[in-house]
Amino acid sequence: MTETLPALTTAERAAAVERLVAAEIAAATVPVALTNSFQAEDMVLLHIVRRHLPNVPVLFLDTGYHFAEVLEYRDRMAHEWQMNLYNIVPQITVSQQESQFGILNQTDPTHCCGLRKVQPLFAALEDYGVWFTGLRREQAKSRAALKEIDDFALPSGRTIRKLSPLTEWSAKDIWTYAAQHEIPLLTLYDQGYTSIGCEPCTTLPLDPNDPRSGRWGGQKLECGIHLPTANH
Ligand code: SF4
Repeated sequence: MTETLPALTTAERAAAVERLVAAEIAAATVPVALTNSFQAEDMVLLHIVRRHLPNVPVLFLDTGYHFAEVLEYRDRMAHEWQMNLYNIVPQITVSQQESQFGILNQTDPTHCCGLRKVQPLFAALEDYGVWFTGLRREQAKSRAALKEIDDFALPSGRTIRKLSPLTEWSAKDIWTYAAQHEIPLLTLYDQGYTSIGCEPCTTLPLDPNDPRSGRWGGQKLECGIHLPTANH
């Protein structure tokens, strides 16, 4: 007879993540960074990582299309937590891009994400050897096979260590941890948003059972940063 193990509590999950983060940081012989969209998952992971690496570089993709609320929250939390924040900007401004290509987020969002997210991040990651992300498997079917520890090949061919310690966490775990540790979260969650990216490509969820269904009007699931190496 198969015995069903009880689900881990949020505190038990947090303790396991803490052990992994501590071990990885202690063993790292290459620079470590954490990407932060300032959504709840990334803030929870940063809260844990900064206990072991207070000055961890925090990489934010400053696409030029963010909600004002995200930028205000970024600036407030960066100040309160004394973050070592890097605003990663694309090679061309929004107005240059719109003059050259039109409103790509309406006509070709994959091209837009490539210019404003994927290329700038992969260029920035060339300075690092370990990459922490707050990804969770439950977020989308495109993340169902997410690995906690993965080798990630950058377009240059260099491979870095991609760590997603919250892989198995539920949304409830994230909210519980944030409440227990009094982490203020983006006010957009209070308006019903469940996944928050650039403003033109984010709505309230179209399917209440799919937290990422408000991204890109349900037309795509990923900006391209977190696709398996073979797909970029
Ligand atoms: S999420 Fe939308 S606006 Fe942001 S980079 Fe992608 S297509 Fe462009």
